[in-house]
Amino acid sequence: MSQTSEVSSPSPSRHASPNPGSDVAADLLREGSITGRQSSENGDIPIVSVSNASKSFASADMPPVQAMIDVSLDVSLGEFVVIVGPSGCGKSTLLNIIAGLIEPDTGNVSLDSDIEAERIGRVAYMHQIDLLLPWRNVLENAVLGLEIAGVSRREAESKATDLASKFGIDDFLNAYPATLSGGMRQRVALLRAVLPERSVLLLDEPFKALDAITRAELQRWLSDVLDRSNRATIMVTHDVEEALMLGDRVLVMSSRPGQILLELEVDLPRPRPNDVVRDQKFVEFKWQLLSALDGVTVA
Ligand code: ADP
Ligand code: MG
Repeated sequence: MSQTSEVSSPSPSRHASPNPGSDVAADLLREGSITGRQSSENGDIPIVSVSNASKSFASADMPPVQAMIDVSLDVSLGEFVVIVGPSGCGKSTLLNIIAGLIEPDTGNVSLDSDIEAERIGRVAYMHQIDLLLPWRNVLENAVLGLEIAGVSRREAESKATDLASKFGIDDFLNAYPATLSGGMRQRVALLRAVLPERSVLLLDEPFKALDAITRAELQRWLSDVLDRSNRATIMVTHDVEEALMLGDRVLVMSSRPGQILLELEVDLPRPRPNDVVRDQKFVEFKWQLLSALDGVTVA
C-alpha cells in the first residue's frame, strides 16, 4: 500500500552508515568535509536538516520574489530523496541553500547536525547545467573537484581512472566536452561530483536536457552506480516517473512560493526494472504524485 503523509515538520530519518560522497564546479569547492558521524547505533540523526526555511529574492525595481516558504526536510545517510515540483517553485533555491551558496531568510539548515558550521564545499553538487570546462578533456574535468580539494594531480587522475569504466567513460578520457553526447557529459559531471567523497550529493535535474531513451538509460545507470548506503542523495526533477524509479522518498513542492505539499515513501523493491512502471503500486504512487501536482500552477 502507498504511504503518504502531509508534511508539516521534518520527517523521521532512517538508516545510516558512515562514509563520504563528493563535489563539482570550481566556484563551489572549498576545503572541508562532513564527518559522517552517524552510525548504525545512532542512525536517527539526519545528515541534512532543513527546518522551516524561507527565502525571498529582492531586486531593485521589482517587488521581492518569495521563492520558497517554510520548507522542512531531514535526510539521513543511505536515503535517496527526490523533490518534484513545477518550474520556478524554488527547487534549485532549496539545493543552493543546502549547499551553503545562499542562506535562508528564516529557518535553520544544518549538515551533520551543526547549524553553525559552514556548508559550502561540504556537499557534492551536480548542477542543472553540467559546467564542464571546454578546454579540459574528460579526465581533466573529472579531477577538477579533487584538485581544488588539494589532492595531487597524479592521485586525482588515478582515482578518476579507477572509476572511469564504472561510469562508462573509460574510452573517452582524452575527449573534449564539445565532442561528447549529452548523456556522456552527464556521466563525466557526475563522476566529477562524486570523486571528492562527500556524504551529501545534490542533483539538480541531472537528466533534464536528455532525450527520453538516454534519460531512461541514465536513470537505470545512476541507480546502479551510486552506492546509496554511503551517502544522502537529494535529487530535483519535474518527472514523477523518474522520481519513483530512483527515490526512497518523494517530496512534492507547490508552485511558488514553494512549500512541501506531500511526502511519499516509495517502498518499491530495488533494483527497479523498467517494467516497474506497470507495477500496480508504482501506478498508484504516480497517481498520488500527479494528484498532488494537479492544480499546482507552472511559473
Ligand atoms: P526552480 O528550480 O524550482 O525552477 P528556482 O529555485 O530556480 O526555481 O527559482 C525560484 C524563484 O526564485 C524563481 O521565480 C526565480 O526567478 C527566483 N530566483 C531564484 N534565484 C534568484 C536570484 N538569485 N535572484 C532573484 N530571483 C531568483
Ligand atoms: Mg531549478
